[in-house]
Amino acid sequence: MRILISNDDGYLAPGLAALADALAAIAEVVVVAPDSNRSGASNSLSLDRPLSVQQAANGCYFVNGTPTDCVHVALTGLLDYRPDLVVSGINNGQNMGDDTLYSGTVAAATEAYLFGIPAIAFSQVDHGWQHIDAAARMARDIVQRRFDGLASPFLLNVNIPNLPYEALGPLRATRLGRRHPSEPVIRAQDPRGRDIYWIGPPGACLDAGEGTDFHATAQGAVSITPLQIDLTHKAELAMLARGLA
Ligand code: MN
Repeated sequence: MRILISNDDGYLAPGLAALADALAAIAEVVVVAPDSNRSGASNSLSLDRPLSVQQAANGCYFVNGTPTDCVHVALTGLLDYRPDLVVSGINNGQNMGDDTLYSGTVAAATEAYLFGIPAIAFSQVDHGWQHIDAAARMARDIVQRRFDGLASPFLLNVNIPNLPYEALGPLRATRLGRRHPSEPVIRAQDPRGRDIYWIGPPGACLDAGEGTDFHATAQGAVSITPLQIDLTHKAELAMLARGLA
């Protein structure tokens, strides 16, 4: 099995190294990751400039672009083979509910999925890399499951609580929860007295009920959500059509 690994925290992130080390034991791995932290990059492609690919001493490729750029370049030019699986992460912090729309971690996996390759995004729920080795071992367990029963390609979003391996709960199939709208921007002044704005924190949980990713991870379980990309609001389609007739 050949696995392409990317992330959005950048090629020096501990979560990426832990994931690559864990998967190297079961597969041939190649890492293509952003040269800096691109968390929140979503599915953006860099169309206004060329991309450079460099290789670190450990063999990892790094790109002056977004997570989506990395996977796109890897699949359409850099690699001379088609990976069997693309994984992303392990992200420093959760990607649950509405986070998935902004996440560069999920976006890297999504890019592979759009190219017809099965993909899994991995995130640790809390920031700080506590128990990252346990999360990497769990990620390897999940990759080894193969998910042959799912339609191919599949796109899975996995969130792992920051717990020792033995303390991690069961794998649980979940749906995305929902968040309240984000907190307001934080206004400050730059050294020249001009107003500047920092994007504020994400909103609190709105739907964290049973069955959601929020609910599962709060109980110590490992949340696995199958994602799809068709944004069509199917329930509104007929209503719109009637309104237009
Ligand atoms: Mn990140």
